[in-house]
Amino acid sequence: MKHDVLSGSQVAERARLAIPGGVNSGQRSVPGLTDLVIVHAEGARFRDADGREFVDYHAAFGPPLLGHNDPDVGAAVAEAGRTVDLCGVGVTRGEVELAETLVELVPSVEKVLLTSTGSEATFHALRVARAATGRRLVVKFQGCYHGWHDAVSLNVISAPDRVGGRDPISTGILPEVLEATLVLPFNDAAAVRAAFAEHGHDIAAVIVEPVPHNVGCLLPEQEFLATLREECTRAGSVLVFDEVITGFRHDLGGWQKLSGITPDLTTMGKAIANGYPVGALGGRADLMELFSSRPGGPAFFAGTYNGHPAVVAAALATLRKLRTEPVHEHVFRLGERIRTGLADVFAGLGLPALVTGFGSVFVAYFMTGPARTYDDLLRNDAAMFIGYRRRLLEHGVFELPLNLKRSHVSYAHTDADVDRLLEAAEAAARAQLA
Ligand code: PLP
Repeated sequence: MKHDVLSGSQVAERARLAIPGGVNSGQRSVPGLTDLVIVHAEGARFRDADGREFVDYHAAFGPPLLGHNDPDVGAAVAEAGRTVDLCGVGVTRGEVELAETLVELVPSVEKVLLTSTGSEATFHALRVARAATGRRLVVKFQGCYHGWHDAVSLNVISAPDRVGGRDPISTGILPEVLEATLVLPFNDAAAVRAAFAEHGHDIAAVIVEPVPHNVGCLLPEQEFLATLREECTRAGSVLVFDEVITGFRHDLGGWQKLSGITPDLTTMGKAIANGYPVGALGGRADLMELFSSRPGGPAFFAGTYNGHPAVVAAALATLRKLRTEPVHEHVFRLGERIRTGLADVFAGLGLPALVTGFGSVFVAYFMTGPARTYDDLLRNDAAMFIGYRRRLLEHGVFELPLNLKRSHVSYAHTDADVDRLLEAAEAAARAQLA
């Protein structure tokens, strides 16, 4: 039978037969939503095979800052398709224009390479840091996600009894790879100084989400980021800001522009191309030149699809729109309305909640007190967090019903969408409390 006459549950059943777990990426299969088959996405909404429509605040974990299927991005991709596709030799004009744009926009970026995903960018950042320093260790922070590869697979979302312990997100990783990664608490400058005092001579890189959005939102203390910069400079280690989420979404120059703290390398992705598969690694020219294949740099970098003309066209169209239309103004205003509105809703119900975020990103934790570190987030009432979001679905509002996940507004969301979210929030929280 053809898929388009099947119900969502029938397609999902067939998916599970042909695709392990029925989905193509970890965390796309969500308890209670295992039969979700998406058939249409446009603007701030998507629709499933059973005709349910949702206002989408999940936003595919972050890329479509302009909204789904943005017409200008779509037109640029279609035009690219009529002009050139992948040739795998030389360079296209679009790649050069995109590289020059990233160099212009992002303070740390003197030279830049394109990848197809953020994971490839963080992988290569660590590789080149080791190549440059000849050192072994990498430092990451609790709650930060940098992609699927082995070196960064520790303490991403850890159970309370394993926070700080060795906690790979996957089996099948060599223990010696995990042992070469030190995990420190976020926002803890003293822990950073102590780690450098003990291991500084062997630390190749420090990699950090300047705002750890993979656990919702931990806002960085300026002293913490400044300490990373100081210690890396003193020890000759490479500081990597993973701006795959924060880049372009929070500012065209990323968090480094907002904080005034410049890393040595920056990884980017997601919002660059509004949903087309892109990543980028940029930074200090001397480090990036280690990848140079002419006349033969010591670090190897490759990827069949890097700089794909359709993706590059999507990125150029996205960045053009971000620079010429009031996108940030719009999403920041709606984000602020949502954060204030949600805080009022929960306070009105006497429900302990911490509503936080930045710009277009928001998250409501069900806990009291500040959220500075991953440890703090262990106080979040996960059952309430997930239960509340499942009830939002009944009102046609989609926030991913998984613990600690952030939500996003896009340029396509309207004030009416925000009104609807706030009404749904009140009804969902009330029902959850009943
Ligand atoms: N870095 C951060 C901060 C991310 O949030 C992600 C993905 O969510 C990645 C890296 C990996 O990017 P990708 O999924 O494109 O490989």
